[in-house]
Amino acid sequence: MKLLSNCHTHSDFCDGKDSPYEIARYAVTLGMSDLGFSSHSYIPFDDECHGILNEAEYISEIGRLKEIFSENLYISCGIELDSMSSSVSSMDKKYDYIIQSVHYLCNSSGIPVSIDNTIGELEGLIYERYDGKFDNLAEDYFQAVLDSVISSKADIVAHYDLITKFEKECTLIDENSKRYRNAAIDVLDTIVDFISSYGGMFEVNTGAMARGYKTNPYPSDFILKRLCERDARVIITSDSHSKENLLYGFDPAHDYLLNAGFKSMAVFKKGRFVEVSI
Ligand SMILES: [Zn+2]
Ligand SMILES: [Zn+2]
Repeated sequence: MKLLSNCHTHSDFCDGKDSPYEIARYAVTLGMSDLGFSSHSYIPFDDECHGILNEAEYISEIGRLKEIFSENLYISCGIELDSMSSSVSSMDKKYDYIIQSVHYLCNSSGIPVSIDNTIGELEGLIYERYDGKFDNLAEDYFQAVLDSVISSKADIVAHYDLITKFEKECTLIDENSKRYRNAAIDVLDTIVDFISSYGGMFEVNTGAMARGYKTNPYPSDFILKRLCERDARVIITSDSHSKENLLYGFDPAHDYLLNAGFKSMAVFKKGRFVEVSI
């Protein structure tokens, strides 16, 4: 099947390269049916990406494009909500959907450090706060994912094992560690119980493949298999930061789901997440 929709899309309202208008135009040339924007929520402390500086402007611009492109493309206005954004609980009514993320953990002085910006920042945090042990960081990370999903009642759990982004180069990362796997699966089970009650999903995110960090989408195979065992909903997203990557890696992601045993997945259609056979 050919997947022609994406709900995890960054633009120049945050750290994406292109304007929403340019992305929408490009989506039409790709024959896409649905395009959902999901700019990063406002993050005051991150000088490299502050997220949305003006929410009203963002919502208004996406609304304007929704009208302009209404004949060819269904446009939605979502948000990628970071666990450290301030207006966590009040956002849900402003946006068509929420993608919940954890991009930062605090160091021992309480200062947020990015876990997916550079390998240096990640390793520095592991040594400074977590005694050089990736498992220690992982337990805190997954707990933060759980807390944030419960707080926001998110529609989509973003890149569940984002902390493995630098797995090719960071020797501290060991996904085969029993402690790591237990932390990932224990929290996953709790989140699945929670989000299943309202149709929430985990994303199968190809963003790190597009940028050469990973060969498979998030999450890793053992996590995806557990999601399948639990009959959890999943959706393929590109987490694109440039229009050329809007549908990046969707075919391998589809195969990845099939190999994990999935028989169906959610697809974004006319602004709704509908279940289709794969
Ligand atoms: Zn993210
Ligand atoms: Zn994103």
